[in-house]
Amino acid sequence: MTDIFSETKKSILKISKKFNLNENAVEKFLEPARVLEVKIPVKLKNGQTKVFQGFRSQHNNKLGPYKGGIRFHPQVTKEEVMALSLWMSLKCAVADLPYGGAKGGVIVDPKTLSERELEDLSRGYARAIYDVIGADRDVPAPDVNTNPKIMSWMVDEYVKISKEKKVQIPENILYATFTGKPDKDHGLAGRTEATGFGGVVVLKELVQRLGLKSENQMVAVQGFGNVGLYFAQFAADNGFKVVAVSDSKGAITEKNHQFKALDIPLVLKCKKEKGMVSGCYCVGGVCDLSKGRPLTNEELLELPVDILVPSALENVINKKNMTKIKAKIIIEMANGPVSYEAYEYLTKKGVVIVPDILANAGGVTGSYIEWKQNIENKKYKKEETLKMIEGIMELAFDNIWNEAINLKTHLKEASTVHALKKLLV
Ligand code: NAD
Repeated sequence: MTDIFSETKKSILKISKKFNLNENAVEKFLEPARVLEVKIPVKLKNGQTKVFQGFRSQHNNKLGPYKGGIRFHPQVTKEEVMALSLWMSLKCAVADLPYGGAKGGVIVDPKTLSERELEDLSRGYARAIYDVIGADRDVPAPDVNTNPKIMSWMVDEYVKISKEKKVQIPENILYATFTGKPDKDHGLAGRTEATGFGGVVVLKELVQRLGLKSENQMVAVQGFGNVGLYFAQFAADNGFKVVAVSDSKGAITEKNHQFKALDIPLVLKCKKEKGMVSGCYCVGGVCDLSKGRPLTNEELLELPVDILVPSALENVINKKNMTKIKAKIIIEMANGPVSYEAYEYLTKKGVVIVPDILANAGGVTGSYIEWKQNIENKKYKKEETLKMIEGIMELAFDNIWNEAINLKTHLKEASTVHALKKLLV
């Protein structure tokens, strides 16, 4: 069976051949500069010590320090971490950030650990990769199943070790080694909203280029977590009609003769009370028994909306359901939600798909602003952060849109070629 890293390399080589890029240079670029494998012993509450396996793939640092999240998941593999680090190199180049690409991972199901065990694992991982990271070398961040709290443990460990070693680096620079920290703890106001906000900046640019009006566009968002929730909220704030949202337990829409825009703050309030969005129009103060309609996640993807925003998982639009997709625009807010096959099929049908390395780059852009804030020993306000993200994302969209016109191709190939041109030596 081919692994995800081999698949990723194959798809990039195919694109580079099509656009006559230097094959040797591309092949050289594809391999990570270094993949560190680490063992992290953690004393469990039953008194036994369990050794967890972790990785850090530093892919490419031509444009700046390596940058990428750390994932805690039972299905983490070395190949997955390598593939994700390669995508980070491309993403940072697309957003024109002074960063290279990296990714980290630990094979663990964090839900089985107590808080103390999770803290020990996080601190242990930071210790294990200490020698290869730093504000000017490699800057980790949260990813799947890691969060600001985990980042605060890791950065605290990093600062502690640096002090023990009497490293002559100012403390604010040491804090710049990790991003995605809690706002009150050297983090950035607006980092949580950054990815969803950046996605809406891209959507607004796209709609304008296509000569459409935001008010007439019906949007369905799959996933109501960090990315999907803020995407839905900012889209609604900008006049889009967000008519369906979902989480892992199901989806909702409100339909009588035609779809109605959902009240996103109300849905969020309901989700907090109830633990899911499904049925949210049928409980408590936000209940509207006559109109709310629960849907499955599969049905949400096939709704007759204008814009589909997969913001949860990879590969949700694939060979099986691609013929049933009715939206004319897809914004890939999750990483890899549209399979290669479905991307080709839908693009040929005229669907415009904004690829993940452009659409969700608002997240790493937020991380860049946090890093810059720490290095400059400043504290940005949320409005300043969002303004900076808006400028960077508008420019990134403009570059990729023009590249697509020059190359006479779709946005995914244009993004990949645009990034490779910056990264090849
Ligand atoms: P999250 O854990 O905060 O939210 C995920 C959401 O997806 C939750 O609402 C969950 O209920 C929902 N979900 C899970 N399984 C589902 C299913 N089968 N059908 C529908 N919904 C389902 O995660 P997140 O941070 O919002 O990340 C979502 C995606 O965006 C991931 O692919 C992630 O890699 C990508 N991403 C996140 C960021 C970021 O800054 N958080 C940046 C770039 C890319």
